[in-house]
Order: sequence, then C-alpha cells, then structure tokens
Amino acid sequence: MNKEILKNINVLYVEDEEDVREFTSKTIGTIVNSVVVAGNGKEGLEKFNENPKINLILTDINMPKMGGLEMCAEIRKVNNEIPIVITSAHSDPDFLKKAIDVKVSAYAMKPIDLYNLIESMIKAMEPIFLRKELEKVNHNLENRVEEAVKQTKSILDAQDNIVILSTLTNIIEVNKKFLDYFGVSTLNDFLNKKETLIDTFIREYGLFASDKINEDANWILEIQKLNELDRIVKIPNKKGEERVFTVNVDDYEHTGEHYVISFTDITQLKEKSNLLEYQANHDQLTGLFNRQKFNEIFSKEIKREKRYQNSLCIITFDIDDFKNFNDDYGHMVGDEVLKVISKIVMNSVREHDSVARWGGEEFLVLLPQTQLNGAIQVAEKIRAAIEKYQDSVIPGQITASFGVTKLEKDDDEVSVLKKADEALYIAKNKGKNLVIAK
Ligand code: GH3
Ligand code: MG
Ligand code: MG
Repeated sequence: MNKEILKNINVLYVEDEEDVREFTSKTIGTIVNSVVVAGNGKEGLEKFNENPKINLILTDINMPKMGGLEMCAEIRKVNNEIPIVITSAHSDPDFLKKAIDVKVSAYAMKPIDLYNLIESMIKAMEPIFLRKELEKVNHNLENRVEEAVKQTKSILDAQDNIVILSTLTNIIEVNKKFLDYFGVSTLNDFLNKKETLIDTFIREYGLFASDKINEDANWILEIQKLNELDRIVKIPNKKGEERVFTVNVDDYEHTGEHYVISFTDITQLKEKSNLLEYQANHDQLTGLFNRQKFNEIFSKEIKREKRYQNSLCIITFDIDDFKNFNDDYGHMVGDEVLKVISKIVMNSVREHDSVARWGGEEFLVLLPQTQLNGAIQVAEKIRAAIEKYQDSVIPGQITASFGVTKLEKDDDEVSVLKKADEALYIAKNKGKNLVIAK
C-alpha cells in the first residue's frame, strides 16, 4: 500500500457521529497532511468553499441538514476533479445511481475498517497522483528539450557562417547571421517574404541558382552533388549588396531527412581572385589585354573564323617617333600618351573587338565579323582621333601609323600578323600617320 500518495493531501472529512468522526480523523491525520472535519453536508460544503487546498473528500451519506451525496452534487458543480470517498453501509440501487452521478471514486464500508479506508483513499488519489507525476516528468522532459534546443541555437548563433537546419522541403531553424543578413527578426518573417531560399540566389554565369536545375528537382540534393567550386551562390543582403558564398550541405544523420546547410562568405576571396585573374590578363599601365591574353583570344577567334567564315580583321599600329617624344618630354609624359591612346582605341571599337598592348608602343586590335573596308574605317577613326588629340598634360602632337589586314583561308596567327606588320612598315615608310591595308 503506497501511503506516500496521501502524505501531502488535505482531506475534508464529513461525519455526523461525533465519536466516529473524532477517532477516524485522528487516525487519518497521522497519514495525510491535514484533516478538516464537518458534522453534516451543509457544514461540509461551507468548509470546502473556505479551504481551496482540499484535495480529497471523505464523507458519510446519511446526515442531518444535508446528506453526503447532496453535498457532493453541490461540490461537483464547481469541481469536477476532486476525488470523493464515501463511507456507507448502503448498497441499494438508488444510492449507487446517485454515487455514480457525483463520480464517487471509492467506497469504504461502515463500520469503518481503517485499513480499508486508507486503501480506498489511496485508490481515489492514485489517478491524480499519477497524472501529476506524469506532468512533472513531461515538464522536465520539455525543459530538457528546450535546453538542448537553446544550446544548439547558441552554437548556431556563434557561427560566423550563415547556417540553416532544413528538411528537403522546409527550413526548420536558422541562426542569427541568417536573420541579420536578410534583415528579418524571425524565420517566419523570411518565409513570408520569399517563396524559397533558392529564389534568393542570383542567376549568373558560373553560379548555382534555380536556372541550373530542373523545376521539380530539389536544390539541396542537387547542390550536394556538385564539387566545391561549383557550389557557389550569390545572394543579395538586406541592403541589396550581393555577396558570394560557398555552400556546404551536411546530411547530419545520414537519413536524408535533416540537413545542415552553411554558407561561407567568400566575397573578398572572389574579389581577390578576380583581381589576380585581371592582373594576369591585362597590361598594368593601360588596362588593355596583354600579349598572353591576346594570343589566347586570337587563336580562339581564328578557329571560329575557320569554321564560320565571318571575316576576321586585324589592325596593328605603332606610335610615330615615340623615341623622340620620350627624349623631348620625358618617360612619364610618354606613359600618359600610352594611356590616352588606349582610351581613344577603346572608344573607337565595338564590344566584341579585342584591344591589346602588344609591345612598348605597339597595339593590336582584333575585329571579328568585320570586312577589310570596315577595319580600315576603324583604323582611320583611331588615327584621326590620335592626331586630333590635345591636352595640357601632353605637349606636342602625337600620331601613329597603322597596318590593316584580313585573315585569309591559308592564314594562321603568324602569317596574319606578318601581313599586318608589313602594312604598318609601308605606312611608316610612306611618311607615317597613315593607314595601309594589305
Ligand atoms: P617610329 O615612328 O619608327 O615608330 O619611331 P619610334 O621612335 O616610335 O620607334 P622605336 O621603336 O625606335 O622606339 C620606340 C620607343 O617607344 C622606345 C621607347 O622610348 C618608347 N617606349 C616603349 N615602351 C614605352 C613605355 O612603356 N613608356 C614610354 N614612355 N615609352 C615607351
Ligand atoms: Mg615601335
Ligand atoms: Mg614607334
């Protein structure tokens, strides 16, 4: 018998026979926390209303003024839960029906046997006791789960990366970095604003975004298949500033159900690598393509020309008497001239034309899909613009000589450049500041 259940309870004991009441209340008083006694149902009801801490009712049935079951019926109007134990010698059907109506939890037959009475009280209290225990366990469990979630969250929040926890279809949790990046205060705010995360990825050449996968494909599974260099996305932040990230997807229980997706900001790295790439391909002084890059473009264009025969032309030009210019005005001023000429050329050609600084003061222009006449016109335009150029920084007049040629069937890189050089040589010999085609 688990008397522990009764240890903390407060009993209302209603009994009209004084000696029974006194003896019984004294005995159960040693087992429970407190006993409030009443001599009849009316008094019992008053005591019940005065003592909100009462958690068990023990009552006789036949009493003056108000019987036990009538009292219980009143109590049930305000409290549907409290366990009721009846002490009775009755067992007639009418009594049983009333007892069921007031939801009596247990009976103890009169004359009272203390052992039976306590057993009935325990039986009455047990469901409530167990429910409370269960609530306690659940509460502890909830606290512990909450604690674990808090812990995970603080780990996520401490991350320098944007991290999200997700199923294949839904984001479950995001860290503070994520909220800051998108300028939202909760995940729901984000979800209400955007349809899905992948919709925030900018579609751009070489970057992962929704255009790189089938419409019904799952982006998490798709990006996971790619190697690291292809898992690069660009996402605008709350200010519209576009930053570049590598994405790492981790299926952390290997069940295919939960994914940790982290976004590492590589914007600076990317800028640096872009810069290095730029430096490797461009001339430092003028910003034009260098010789190496030009050769790369040149051989591609020649291959394309051999296949499609769209007509490819090349212009080479060289500044006239530049040695003298340098001698007269100094190398620094000479450098300014090279920059000015580069700008003039860039402003004279089309987007698909390529301009390179071939040597010290020699330049090359590659003109795809251009007939010889067109290339001559471009060269003439550049020549005239250089001749016309006047600037306070650059004293004296600058001119340049031009050789123009078209790639023929049997030409290759070497032969076509040779033809252009020969034309340039003729221009120099004919008095400079001229365009000659060959
Ligand atoms: P021509 O009309 O026959 O082309 O005569 P030129 O003096 O221009 O020809 P040359 O090839 O003899 O001299 C080229 C000069 O260009 C030599 C050098 O002083 C100058 N030069 C080459 N590269 C640079 C450069 O990076 N900066 C400056 N300031 N001058 C350069
Ligand atoms: Mg020269
Ligand atoms: Mg020269």
